[in-house]
Formats: sequence, structure tokens, C-alpha cells
Amino acid sequence: MEHHLIQLPDRRWTCSTCQWYWKSKPQSECPGVPRYDCAHMPEPFKTQTELGKIGLKLAFDQKPAACVYVPRKMDYDWFYDVAQAVPKKQATPAQLAALEKGRSLMAESIARQIAIEGYYNPIKMD
Ligand SMILES: [Zn+2]
Repeated sequence: MEHHLIQLPDRRWTCSTCQWYWKSKPQSECPGVPRYDCAHMPEPFKTQTELGKIGLKLAFDQKPAACVYVPRKMDYDWFYDVAQAVPKKQATPAQLAALEKGRSLMAESIARQIAIEGYYNPIKMD
């Protein structure tokens, strides 16, 4: 991906996608997500390893939300939004049963409301 470059009045360049700054026009590829330096990574962004340490894993199809360039690797470290991650543990059969029961109660409640009111209003549930 190419940077979406904008030249600033002070002659520096910035990219509207990765939001990084350069003194001269960069030749690099754009990582496609905001780039931070390590010390300024916002708190809700974590690496996959960090997510694992707090019992979370990436959601299906979760994409990086930010990155840090690691010169030693000559590549980026990718950071993910904690809010999009999901718990690592598989739900127990009891949890799944509770979820299933909750869903069928919900369906019954919707059916009852339609029977009484003639329509379903998600705000007006009993
Ligand atoms: Zn860029």
C-alpha cells in the first residue's frame, strides 16, 4: 500500500493513513494503520502476545488497529484493539446452555409481545 502523502507548511511529509511524519518524502510502504512510536502507543492497543497474557485472543477476522516499526526486525509490530478481542477460554457446556436458554426466553418474549401488541418493539421488553 502507498502512503497518502500530504506536505505540511513546514515542508515535512505526513500520511493520512499511518499518520507518521517524515523530513523527506518516504520511499517506504504504508502499513495501512496508524503508526506510533513504542512509548506513545495508546493503552487500548495491545500485541497478540499481550492480549494472550490478559486472557484474550483475536476475534475472527480481527485486523490490526495500530503498529510500531521495529528497526531490528525491519518490520512492524502489530497492535490490536482490546475492545474487539474475545476471551480465550471456550465457553463451558453450562455457559452454552445458559446462553441457549437466554435466547429461547428472548424469542418467547418477542412472540408474546407480538401476540399482545401486534408488533415487536425491542425497547419494550418484559
Ligand atoms: Zn502511510
